[in-house]
Amino acid sequence: MKFSHLADTFAMMENTTKRLELTQHLVKLFKKTPPEVISHVTYLLQGKLRPNYEGVELGVADKIALKAISKSAGIPLKRIEKEYQESGDLGHAASKILQQKTQTTFLVEPITVERMYDTLFKVAKLRGSRSQDMKMKYISSLLNDASPTEARFILKIITSTLRLGIADNTIMDSLAIAFTTSKENRPELERAYNVSSDLGSVAEAIAKKGLTGITDFQVSIFKPVRPMLAERVKSPQEAQEKMGKEFAAEYKLDGERVQIHLEGDKVLLYSRSLEDITSYYPDIVERVTKSLKVKKAILEAEAVAINEDSGEFLPFQELMHRRRKYKIAKAVSQYPITINFFDILYVDGKDCLDMSYNDRRKKLEEIIQEDQFARLVPMTIAKTENDVEDFLENSINAGCEGLMLKMIDAPYRAGARGNSWLKLKREYRNELGDSLDLVVIGAFFGKGRRTGRYGTLLLATYNDEEDVFPSICKVGTGFTDENLDQFYQILSNKVKLKKSSRVKSEMEADVWFEPELVIEIVASEITLSPIHNTALNVIRKGSGLALRFPKFTGKIRLEKNPENASTVQEVISLYNGQKKAIHDEHKTERT
Ligand code: ATP
Repeated sequence: MKFSHLADTFAMMENTTKRLELTQHLVKLFKKTPPEVISHVTYLLQGKLRPNYEGVELGVADKIALKAISKSAGIPLKRIEKEYQESGDLGHAASKILQQKTQTTFLVEPITVERMYDTLFKVAKLRGSRSQDMKMKYISSLLNDASPTEARFILKIITSTLRLGIADNTIMDSLAIAFTTSKENRPELERAYNVSSDLGSVAEAIAKKGLTGITDFQVSIFKPVRPMLAERVKSPQEAQEKMGKEFAAEYKLDGERVQIHLEGDKVLLYSRSLEDITSYYPDIVERVTKSLKVKKAILEAEAVAINEDSGEFLPFQELMHRRRKYKIAKAVSQYPITINFFDILYVDGKDCLDMSYNDRRKKLEEIIQEDQFARLVPMTIAKTENDVEDFLENSINAGCEGLMLKMIDAPYRAGARGNSWLKLKREYRNELGDSLDLVVIGAFFGKGRRTGRYGTLLLATYNDEEDVFPSICKVGTGFTDENLDQFYQILSNKVKLKKSSRVKSEMEADVWFEPELVIEIVASEITLSPIHNTALNVIRKGSGLALRFPKFTGKIRLEKNPENASTVQEVISLYNGQKKAIHDEHKTERT
């Protein structure tokens, strides 16, 4: 398939933000795509080369990309850098420069999707001292044969700045329409995606065999399952209203969620955002099989840092010392952990997703041999609000964040957030009641003690319909000196010359970042705002929603992707819940 088909579709998609039109473009593209390359096209649409859990990183540094353009166009690097600075977009700079190419290429080999994908794959796999030079050569070999439009999108893809405003849901809708005639079939695709976490394979299966192709998708070892998520509740009373008569309450531990896949001696670990995190936890790899009475399983657990002398749980931040490439053995002994199991998704050839919570928990109790390192998450069956209050108190005293409440007869709903799991955190019971995970999109330089660092950060929610990050507040409180240093260290590598096209904000920040870093924030209230873009025009025309008195909790959520941040929809429900609470209070006062 010619890459120009793809590039032309991308160019059309860039001109609209309407979901319906984006879907129509994708449907046409998918229908035109041969089934053998549809997985490649799907990954490219997702901005990647392979599913997350394979860890194939596409990102090529701007500098190498600029050198490749210079080599292909025969134009000095300085001129290209100037063009880039002016346009702020490498893709546009490349297409403009290539129009003025001084060297003519006589033998042009047309670029196919296959060639393009294979080259990028090679680039992503290059390691070692000469790799930068080799990357530059591979990219320039593509650019030599590219039209200006193709060059624009090659550059956007390799620098991970292709932003078409489509999220996974739009891709699934379009696949359903293209290959099954109706969007109604999306739940089937979603199920296949949830158990495989690989949208490229789902696309290939449906393109080759239609719906029957994706009914074959099963939970399988070494393919992470998209995690089940919880709705938040503010009080034991609200929990009981939602859960009914009898439900399970578990400690909500403050660590990192780990999905453990094992078969014999082979163990792989995946994070909440489905990245392979095996190398951070060699202790789990070494010890987990000794704690299990089965040879083949997929389990979910929370890894929590502990104080080995007192046995106390330590806060989540302690785990961040593990996030390093080198000297991991030292981090393992300095920052010991326990592994606390709370679910089982697969065991000895059997998929457990459709089993009830009760049966899954029983199975877990059967197969885990508890010791100092491996434990079951403490659980009780609650019947009354008092039971929940008491267990919550115990969990907080043990250093946990609160409780997870789980419906006893509910299956494991992969990839879904719903009422079968609820989370009740201590801080939910005051003020706004909830913490939010927000994406850092910009910053303002500090004054006084904060000079030379970012004093205030501009934060955004995630709009998962349009795949953009609308602003919600500025935050300058809750930072320690250490935090300010950390922020500067992390963020100064993500500075963009211009606001990213995925960022929606009317503010004039001193610096803009690629939306990547997620941090946890508490606030006193959500208010209507004339300046922030979260939920713009949803509650009131011309207004968005903003946080009042936001404060950083101290948690940098390195395990979260920006797409896992709190969504616009979540903020809207918190805002509506807040209004309802005020209304209920007035009602009680009146009666
Ligand atoms: P999300 O709800 O999007 O996962 P989050 O990552 O901020 O948001 P929390 O709001 O902290 O997560 O709540 C869910 C997380 O709680 C799980 O992803 C898991 O890491 C953690 N957790 C701790 N204890 C449990 C438990 N007993 N059962 C399930 N999850 C638990």
